Amino acid sequence: MSENKDNNTNEYEDICYMCRRPESVAGKMIHIQSDICICNDCMQKTFDTMNTGGFNLGDMMSTGRMPNISMVNLSDLQGNIPQTQKLKKKKEKKEKKVEPVLDIHSIPAPHKIKASLDEYVVGQEHAKKVMSVAVYNHYKRVMSDDKDGVEIEKSNMLMIGPTGSGKTYLVKTLARLLDVPLAITDATSLTEAGYIGDDIESVVSKLLAAADNDVERAEHGIIFIDEIDKIAKKRNANQRDVSGESVQQGMLKLLEGAEIEVPVGASSKNAMVPMTTVDTSNILFICGGAFPDLDEIIKERLNKEASIGFRADLKDKYDENENLLCQVTVEDVRKFGMIPEFLGRLPILFSLEALTEDMLVRILAEPKNAIIKQYQKLLAMDEVDLVFEDGALHAIAKKAKEKKVGARALRAIIEEFMLDIMYEIPKDDNIGRVTITESYVEKKGGPLIQMRGVAQLPGQAAE
Ligand code: ADP
Repeated sequence: MSENKDNNTNEYEDICYMCRRPESVAGKMIHIQSDICICNDCMQKTFDTMNTGGFNLGDMMSTGRMPNISMVNLSDLQGNIPQTQKLKKKKEKKEKKVEPVLDIHSIPAPHKIKASLDEYVVGQEHAKKVMSVAVYNHYKRVMSDDKDGVEIEKSNMLMIGPTGSGKTYLVKTLARLLDVPLAITDATSLTEAGYIGDDIESVVSKLLAAADNDVERAEHGIIFIDEIDKIAKKRNANQRDVSGESVQQGMLKLLEGAEIEVPVGASSKNAMVPMTTVDTSNILFICGGAFPDLDEIIKERLNKEASIGFRADLKDKYDENENLLCQVTVEDVRKFGMIPEFLGRLPILFSLEALTEDMLVRILAEPKNAIIKQYQKLLAMDEVDLVFEDGALHAIAKKAKEKKVGARALRAIIEEFMLDIMYEIPKDDNIGRVTITESYVEKKGGPLIQMRGVAQLPGQAAE
């Protein structure tokens, strides 16, 4: 019995006999008898009810023992908490390395930030450059003082790019490289306080959670708000549009910098959760969206400019241009439906290119954690070489391009034809190399299978 109890003490948390909360939630327990314990709160409540005043809770907490009270027949209670209701203690997290607080000298220079981004993100040269400089300036601003009266403006960004072109990926990579907490949220889920949905300030509590409830770390973090185009004012609408515009209005304070009261460890405020205050003035906000039809607005403007004066040009010149978004101006985005005050608080505006077939091929093979490298690693564990022919890579990229969801389509396409390979290859220990051919991707033939130490056998499909 005592051995059993020791095991329990080591691996299982004590649970309060009265309120059923585990030790990790309710705090240190007072052991009454064998495995019956009561948490501090419940004990205090009991005393308050008894109102005898003769007990000293402090003494009891230090000894962890209850004085002899015979109100309850403790032997009746013994063993009443079954093992199935106990929570296994969480493994203690390894201690995190202590991070140096950002100082101006430890912020990597823009070219270094970009070089690190290059290892993961293919193409998007302009976007990577703009972001590197903006981030560099942002953290310089955080470190600077404004004694000389010069206050550096915040470098919040507005990023426009087709779906799957790497917006979220860029921000995620950036936050990881800088080792700052990141919260990603979707503008469509945001509502004004009081409506069903997440209220706008909930993004800050997400960030706080990402920073392990460390307020100081959260205040240097990044908040990415995706799908920002979904809160645009409705164009050509006669009636007043309340939803989108008011969410934009509600975000102004947050973007600019304000002291926000947020619940700790919960997404909504209620009486049971503690609150803390987070200052958003040093939080970097990045908003992103695909802004469908924005190219029409840009095209209209360019055509108008082209048809007058010295720049008179062919009228339909811009019709086939896939990268019109690169020529975006604040005025275009305002026309789209973002309010000027909102745009004013996102001074850095840039766009991402639509991914071309060549870029998709590079995304397949080049980044540090490219999809192909991941499959190669998996098969290498079975001591099988996985090779992709150039033609196969192009065929995959072409298929992905047709789906019009950017790089996101790549994984689904590869997974489809890799399933058979991953299933069949481990069956035969003699297989040494698999070559994925163009015809296999196009479902017209099979992959090339090469046995260990034997010449290549063409056309042996792993079906
Ligand atoms: P969105 O622009 O819609 O936010 P994501 O950033 O979520 O698109 O991109 C989806 C996935 O496509 C990413 O997880 C990433 O693996 C891949 N990807 C997209 N663009 C690139 C790129 N330029 N370089 C490398 N991978 C990319």
